[in-house]
This record gives sequence, structure tokens and C-alpha cells, in this order.
Amino acid sequence: VLEINNLTKQFGKLTAVNDLSFSVEKGNVYGLLGPNGSGKSTTLGMILNVVNPTSGNWKWFGEEHSIESLKKVGAIIERPNFYPYLSAKKNLEIVAEIKGADYLKIEEKLKIVGLWERKNDKFSTFSLGMKQRLAIAGAMLNDPDVLILDEPTNGLDPQGIIKIREIIQDIAAQGTTIILASHLLDEVEKVCSHVVILERGKTLYSGSVDEMTASYGYIEVGSNDSQKL
Ligand code: ATP
Ligand code: MG
Repeated sequence: VLEINNLTKQFGKLTAVNDLSFSVEKGNVYGLLGPNGSGKSTTLGMILNVVNPTSGNWKWFGEEHSIESLKKVGAIIERPNFYPYLSAKKNLEIVAEIKGADYLKIEEKLKIVGLWERKNDKFSTFSLGMKQRLAIAGAMLNDPDVLILDEPTNGLDPQGIIKIREIIQDIAAQGTTIILASHLLDEVEKVCSHVVILERGKTLYSGSVDEMTASYGYIEVGSNDSQKL
């Protein structure tokens, strides 16, 4: 569904993403794993056409520079932002309106994220985890082929984290391809089948999570401090 070739982004002298290449196959869950500033969000920004690359290219569904293909991609790359004094359901009706999605999908998606019982509650009364789950429901309204999530469990309490991870696994089990940026190794191990490990823009590892786990201790993180995974 996605092929990234030699993607590079420089901000002045800083190379935020350095010659990144990888492919995303349908139905799998891909992790972009790396510490703060490793280039995860910049990478997602480029493939979503909101950050201009310095060089390299990518193809969504075999097509370069296709705005049309991006309609098949749902993404949450910012903190969830809805109307605070409107209910969860009303907020999703607005999203459905904007996206041209079927209103009948709202019930299905609210159920997937476990918020159907809370549909009439105002967004402002939601915990951060519930807000994040509502954002996932919104991104899923038009049944995207690919769902992109940038650190969806950041700032959540343990139960909120577990819930979001379960939802990601449920969505993946239904055949949606997922690309997940995370700085948490255990998150990638739990939910991803494939992983690209980034460090200061460079690719340290790209491959299956099983093989990564088998090669622990051989992937060196941090050129200065040789910290091991
Ligand atoms: P985090 O875990 O903090 O979200 P990240 O892996 O998403 O980190 P990026 O946000 O992609 O990392 O940032 C990669 C590098 O590029 C960082 O050093 C960051 O400071 C820099 N950077 C990102 N956006 C810009 C920008 N618009 N202008 C200048 N530098 C930027
Ligand atoms: Mg980021």
C-alpha cells in the first residue's frame, strides 16, 4: 500500500530523516520506533503531504503525488481536537459531514472504540484516553485502508494505554493496515508485526518484530553511548 524510497528531510543543517526506505504491505501493523527527535513525526508528515521532503519519494497504492490516494488514509497526528460542549456523537456527525462519510457508520465506530455508551456525553467530560479513542473513531468513519497514529498512547494512564492498544489490535484484525509512531519498545512489540527503528533520522533496523526480538543486543541505539535495546 505504501512504498517509501530514499526519503530525506533537512531542516537547515539538521537531517531529521536520512535516506529512509521501506514498504508497507496490506494488513500489517508497522511501528516507527525511536526516541524524541528521531524523525518519526517528520516521516509521517511527509507521507501525508504536510511536510515537504528534501529528496526522495513515496507511492501510496502505487501512485506518486496522488491526493486521491490519501482519501484512503486516516491519520491522527495531533492531539484530538473536537467541540468541547458537543456530545461525542454530535462531534462525529460533524466529522462525517466534512468527510462525506455515512452517518450510519457512527454507531459502528463508536462501538469499536468502546464509546457507544458515552455517545451523549460532552467531549469536555472525556479523559485524554477517551478523547484519543474518539479521534480514532473519527479517523475510521470512512473505512480507510490505512490508519496512521502518532504516539496515540502518550500521556495516558496504564488502563488508557491498554485500551488504545486493544483497539489498535482490533482494527488491525479487521484488515486495516496501521502505521504507528512510538517511542516505546514494548508498545511496538505488543501491537506491531513490522518495525523501522529510527535514531536521529537514520534507520537502525527495518524488518519483522520477531526478528528484532531475536536480535536483541545486536541493534545498537545511540552512537555515543552504545545503549542497548
Ligand atoms: P518526538 O518523539 O519528540 O515526537 P519525532 O521522532 O517525532 O520526536 P520529529 O518531530 O520528526 O521527531 O523531529 C525530528 C527532528 O527534526 C528533531 O530534531 C526536531 O527538532 C526537528 N524538526 C522537526 N520539525 C521541525 C521544523 N519544522 N523546523 C525545524 N526543525 C524541525
Ligand atoms: Mg513526534
